[in-house]
Amino acid sequence: MQRLKDWLIARSSGVNHRIVYGLVGGLLLCLWGFVGFWSWWERSSTLAANAQVLEQLTTAVHEQTRNLFKQAETSLTVASLWMAEHPDQDPGKAPGFIRLVENLRQASDKLIDIRMVTRDGTLRYVPDRGQTNRTNVADRDYFQAQFNEKTRGLYVAQPVISRVTGKLGIPISIPVTQAGGDIAVLFAAIELDRIAGTFEAERIQPQGTIAIIRNDGLFLFRSPMDDKIIGSNVAQSPMWQRNMGVLHRGYYESDRSPIDGRSRAVAFTRVQDYPLVVAVTASLDDLLRAWRMHTLILVSIALLISIACVLLATTLLRSMRGEAAVRRTLEHLMLTDPLTGVGNRRMLDLRLDEEILRAQRYRRTLTAVYFDLDHFKLVNDNYGHDVGDTVLRQVADSLVANVRQSDHVARLGGEEFVVLLTETDINAAVTLVERMRAAVAALHTPGLPRHITISAGLAQWREGENAESLLRRADRALYRAKASGRNSAFTDLED
Ligand code: GH3
Ligand code: MG
Ligand code: MG
Repeated sequence: MQRLKDWLIARSSGVNHRIVYGLVGGLLLCLWGFVGFWSWWERSSTLAANAQVLEQLTTAVHEQTRNLFKQAETSLTVASLWMAEHPDQDPGKAPGFIRLVENLRQASDKLIDIRMVTRDGTLRYVPDRGQTNRTNVADRDYFQAQFNEKTRGLYVAQPVISRVTGKLGIPISIPVTQAGGDIAVLFAAIELDRIAGTFEAERIQPQGTIAIIRNDGLFLFRSPMDDKIIGSNVAQSPMWQRNMGVLHRGYYESDRSPIDGRSRAVAFTRVQDYPLVVAVTASLDDLLRAWRMHTLILVSIALLISIACVLLATTLLRSMRGEAAVRRTLEHLMLTDPLTGVGNRRMLDLRLDEEILRAQRYRRTLTAVYFDLDHFKLVNDNYGHDVGDTVLRQVADSLVANVRQSDHVARLGGEEFVVLLTETDINAAVTLVERMRAAVAALHTPGLPRHITISAGLAQWREGENAESLLRRADRALYRAKASGRNSAFTDLED
């Protein structure tokens, strides 16, 4: 029984292979799962930390922008109030107004310079020294807006290059209802050069940006300064339509900016009281550089580990396969009769244990047949040992040829064979044995001028009987066959 177990374990090397595959597969799965999770986690936390920084920066930029526009609006309102109170004076020449405008200019750190436009579009400076008589701004939107019912009021206009100073600025205009000197529109231009420094210092270097955009998608300002972007309109871009165009405040990661093709993290907020949005961005390339490097290192290490694992597993499997082959050869040698190629005594013991177990469990029949060549000694003595060996081989082949695959043939040594007939009762076995005996009797052996005969003893396995007892009964039957004159088959039931 123990030997049967050993044998079964020896046969189960396939299971070991599966264990190696399972272990290596599990290890690699864990490894790559960890790499994937870690990479995802570091990317998410980097972006989350950045989102916070961007939102704080957005709040600061919002305050600065709002103050800037508030200052311009206040200056314009104060100037227009003066005009309304002095409708009989030409503001371009009135000392009181000139002083007022100068004071406002100083208060804004020279950022806000108020200019006037007459009803026909003529630009007038304060003080008016006649230098702007030739400049007409009737075509500018900050002027035209004040003659349109929909846009009249505080108007943030398209950034333009001043025809007088040559500088790029955002004009902010208001209408004037009552004033001397035929003044119809007041405006102040916020020169972009002058505010650029502040925002440039605040933006996230090197590729981050800060932008002031009008509610309708018009780019008013952008740091770093870019003439191509300022004055362009992004209202048609899907990013605008999903975010700044509809939300009050937000954060998103853009795939690719419609302006410069870069992927960016963007935080934005609408400016309170003004038709503006401020947006602060950081380049995802900049943000994720460290993450990319870490991921690359981690993936490389994981790749090396994976290759090592696979190599190790392959080597292990190969050596296991080699071992299994050696084991199979050894098993074969241990269990096979070298002369005839059928099973030997050891094989018979194993099969008997197996078949008895099966017969017991599934209530099957099993018959053992003991064969012994008649007067075989004479064959050896008269025709030589080689002829005897040939006879033994032929008999073994003949026995194998006459049984089913599920039956077993073994040579016990000498000229004795045992055949186990599975799922066969004694009656069926008798018929089969007669056929086998006839086949042996019909054999022709080179160098042997006569036929040989074989005797057989049969015993059917009985419930609860062990291998030894079954073989003993078959052997006893064989003995009777020999005693009765040989060349016959006896069952153990016969007297
Ligand atoms: P019986 O009919 O009573 O069985 O007579 P027997 O001569 O067949 O029986 P015995 O047991 O007296 O002789 C068996 C012979 O088998 C003895 C030996 O010469 C021969 N023998 C045993 N092993 C081998 C073998 O491997 N090769 C050959 N050629 N002969 C063998
Ligand atoms: Mg014999
Ligand atoms: Mg014998």
